[in-house]
Amino acid sequence: MDFAFSDRCLEYRERLEIFMDERVYPNEARYDAEIAASGDPHLHAPVMEELKQEARDRGLWNLFHPHPEWGPGLTNLEYAPLAEILGRSKIASEACNCSPPDTGNMEVLTMFGTAEQKDQWLRPLLEGTIRSSFAMTEPDVASSDATNISLRIQRDGDSYVLNGRKWWITGGMHPNNKVLIVMGKTDPSAPAHRQQTQILVPIDTPGLRRVRSLPVLGYLDPEGHVEFEFTEVRVPATNLVADEGDGFAISQARLGPGRIHHCMRAIGAAERALELLCRRALSRTTFGRRVAERSNIMDWIAEARIELEMVRLLTLKTAWLMDTSGNKAAAVEISAIKVAAPQTALRIIDRAIQVHGAGGLSDDFPLAAMYANARTLRFVDGPDEVHKMTIARRELRRHDPDFRMDAPVVAR
Ligand SMILES: Cc1cc2nc3c(=O)[nH]c(=O)nc-3n(C[C@H](O)[C@H](O)[C@H](O)COP(=O)(O)OP(=O)(O)OC[C@H]3O[C@@H](n4cnc5c(N)ncnc54)[C@H](O)[C@@H]3O)c2cc1C
Repeated sequence: MDFAFSDRCLEYRERLEIFMDERVYPNEARYDAEIAASGDPHLHAPVMEELKQEARDRGLWNLFHPHPEWGPGLTNLEYAPLAEILGRSKIASEACNCSPPDTGNMEVLTMFGTAEQKDQWLRPLLEGTIRSSFAMTEPDVASSDATNISLRIQRDGDSYVLNGRKWWITGGMHPNNKVLIVMGKTDPSAPAHRQQTQILVPIDTPGLRRVRSLPVLGYLDPEGHVEFEFTEVRVPATNLVADEGDGFAISQARLGPGRIHHCMRAIGAAERALELLCRRALSRTTFGRRVAERSNIMDWIAEARIELEMVRLLTLKTAWLMDTSGNKAAAVEISAIKVAAPQTALRIIDRAIQVHGAGGLSDDFPLAAMYANARTLRFVDGPDEVHKMTIARRELRRHDPDFRMDAPVVAR
C-alpha cells in the first residue's frame, strides 16, 4: 500500500484550502441569509453562481471526474483529501461542481452514454449549467433490495412509457435540474439481475409530477429530496442508458465511487466538528475550570482523533484498492467505510454539539445541520445493515464456500 499523495494532489489541496478560507467559509452565512430572505427554502442562492465562477477560474472544477478527457483525471486516492476538504462545508461541493448525485450521473453518462446523450446532458453537467437527479428509491417497496424496484418502463413503438412513484430524489427541487436518470423494471420475467433498466427523463416531460419535498430531521435541504409521481411519462427509446436489463450493473458501477466520496466528505465534516469542539471547550469555563480540562472532554477529543485516523486510513486504503485493483476487488472495503465513516462522524458531531451546550442545537453553529446530513449517510446508497450483510457474507464464505442466503441478493 502506498498512500503518499502525488505532487499534483498536494498542489490541488493547497489551492482548495485557500479557496475554502478566502471564499467558501466567509460565504456560508450569506448563502443561508439569501435563502431565508427569499422565503423560498429551495432558492438557488445567487452567491452559489459567484462561487462556481470563482472555482472554475481557479481550476478547482470537476475535481471528482476520473476520466482525463472530461476532468482533471485524478485517481480516487488523489481525490480523497480534496473531497474531505469539500465535506467541511455544505456549500463547497456544489461550488466546485462535485456534488452528488450529479457526480455519479456524470460518471454513468461518461461510461454508458451515447454520443448524443453526452452532448445533450454530460457536457452541460460538466459545465455546471444544469443539474440532475438519480431516481431509484420508491415509497411502496423496501428499496434496499434492488429487485423490489417496481416503477414500470414499457416499450411502445419508438418510446418508453414510465408509470410509478419515486421518493427521496435528491436535487429534485433545484431550479437548474433538467434531467433524471430513472431506474425501473422493463422485464419482470427476466432473471433478478436483468429486470431493471435505467433511462433519461427530462424533468419537464408531461406526466412527471413533483408531489412534495421531504425534510431531513426538520431541515428542508435547498436542492430538495423529492417525491415524484410518473403517470404515462413518455420518452424516446434513444433515452435508454446502455441496454434493457443493464440497470443493476450500471448502479453497481456508479455506487462504488459515490459511496467513497460520501465517506471522505463525512470525515471532513467530523474534522471541522472536532475543531469547533476544541475551540469551544478551550473558551468556556464551568466550576472554576475550562471545559477542555475535564477528563471526559479530553477523552472525547482523544477518541475522536483515534477514530478519525482509523476511518481515514481505511478510506485511503479503499481508494488505493479501487485505483489499483478495481471497484469490485474493493467491495468489502467500500462497504466497511460506508458503515464506519458516517457512524464515526455522527459520534464526533454529537459530542461537539454537547460541548456547545444548547447553542449546539441551533443554527448559530453548523453542527446541527452537519448532524442531520451525517445521519442521512446511514441510509443513502444503501443502509448500514445491507453493507454489513455484504461483509458478513464474504467472511462466511471463507469458511463455507457454498454459503447462500434464501433469496438472491441484489443489494443496491
Ligand atoms: C437524504 C437522503 C437522500 C437520498 N437520495 C436519494 C436519491 O437521490 N435517489 C434515490 O434513489 N434514493 C435516495 N435516497 C434513498 C436511500 O437510498 C434509501 O433510503 C436507502 O437505499 C434505503 O432504502 P429504503 O429507505 O427503502 O429502506 P428499506 O429498504 O425499506 O429498509 C429499511 C430498513 O430495513 C433494514 N434492512 C434492510 N435490509 C436489511 C438487511 N439485509 N438486513 C438487516 N436489516 C435490513 C434496515 O434497517 C433499513 O434501514 C436518499 C435518502 C436520504 C435519507
